Amino acid sequence: MPPPVIRASQARIPAVDRVLHFPAVFRLVEDYGRLLVTEAVRTVLADFRQALAAGRIPEWDERSIGELVHAYANAWSTPSLRRVFNLTGTVLHTNLGRSPLPPEAVAAVARAAGPANLEYDLDKGRRGDRDVHVEGLLTELTGAEAATVVNNNAAAVFLVLNTLALRKQVPVSRGELVEIGDAFRIPDIMARAGCRLQEVGTTNRTHLWDFEQSIGPRTGMLMKVHTSNYAIQGFTAAVPEEALAALAHRHGLPFVVDLGSGSLVDLRRYGLPYEPTPQDALGHGADLITFSGDKLLGGPQAGIIVGRADLVKRIKRNPIKRALRLGKMSLAALEAVLRLYRDPDRLAERLPALRLLTRPEEEIAAQGQRLRPVLEQALAGKVRIELLPCRSQIGSGALPVDALPSHCLRLVPHAGRGRAVEQLAAAFRALPIPVVGRVEGGALCLDLRCLDDEAAFLSQLAALNFRARP
Ligand SMILES: *Cc1c(COP(=O)(O)O)cnc(C)c1O
Repeated sequence: MPPPVIRASQARIPAVDRVLHFPAVFRLVEDYGRLLVTEAVRTVLADFRQALAAGRIPEWDERSIGELVHAYANAWSTPSLRRVFNLTGTVLHTNLGRSPLPPEAVAAVARAAGPANLEYDLDKGRRGDRDVHVEGLLTELTGAEAATVVNNNAAAVFLVLNTLALRKQVPVSRGELVEIGDAFRIPDIMARAGCRLQEVGTTNRTHLWDFEQSIGPRTGMLMKVHTSNYAIQGFTAAVPEEALAALAHRHGLPFVVDLGSGSLVDLRRYGLPYEPTPQDALGHGADLITFSGDKLLGGPQAGIIVGRADLVKRIKRNPIKRALRLGKMSLAALEAVLRLYRDPDRLAERLPALRLLTRPEEEIAAQGQRLRPVLEQALAGKVRIELLPCRSQIGSGALPVDALPSHCLRLVPHAGRGRAVEQLAAAFRALPIPVVGRVEGGALCLDLRCLDDEAAFLSQLAALNFRARP
């Protein structure tokens, strides 16, 4: 027989202690702990009181209170940082964690989570250097003399400037004073690194003689910033790296290139557009090159500095290096990813970032054909769904003018107009593994390029809860 339904107004709202002893509530203590369950009970009872005060009369029985308490305890226990499906069409999406890691890197992170020889030389039995785990691989893969790593590329640029040009002038082309993301701007980083930015040339054209004229006794280094998230087109001129390197060396100055994305292989080999590599920059005479670990490289967040051994040594001695150093889990992941580069033939299968970027258009379209009827059913005719060709972005500022042919499911709610699309997008984000799409022209677009776990995507569609509310 079901428990009797009691009206809160008749039976008064029960005491916290009493509710805690309901079997349906007491059971939860095992999973969530006494403190959290007690807080959830208080919250449920406070909701009841509020409902009463508003003239509504909440009905309750032990089981329904148990369910409400469970819902709060569960919501509060959901991790804040969660896995999502990135169907935005931007593969290396900075807000969604950039490149996905390969299983080799995930396993390496798990191994490094406990005690590890992070800064310990196992042969000699004494203190070691954390960079050794990746320096050999980086020099092998790029041909550089030396390498070091920090927390991200912004930190790498900062550290290089602070080490080589503190209280000195650094000329940079006006066409390269970039802002990346929302907080990395070359002029600001320069100022904070203690350098004086000297703008040379104009936005669209900078010549070698602009740099020549700017060099003086207080110049600390020459720098080229890869304009990774935009392109200047039309009547343009930029000074080639070879010419800048030669000029810097004539004046005894280091020449530094901030590559931004920095792929370690020529991406044309995989049918992707060309993106400059550290090897190219070294070949052009660069003394130091900085790039990100989690952009086209396909690894964890990291900033990589490769180049001349004497300069890398100075960088490693800068006390700020200690404040910007890479953690052991990131080092473990980076090492594992770099190892995959030793076998470029299989890289496009084994490195998820590259696999997603090179996913054939027909395969994405076929996936769309499979998913469309399933989604239509899950949304019970409330939404019109089309499968359309679209273009994915590489993201993270790489190759800004190029886009990859892809396919997307375009979902248009029948009722509710503009707000309904937002509600539909919110319903997808509320799934156990949130699905993040792109709202565009009154529709929710789900670019399928990055949907590699179709089974997990399908298995949660039953939980999709979309009602267009006016
Ligand atoms: C992305 C980028 C940066 C910043 O790199 P993070 O790894 O995000 O810190 C700096 N310079 C250029 C040219 C970039 O493209």
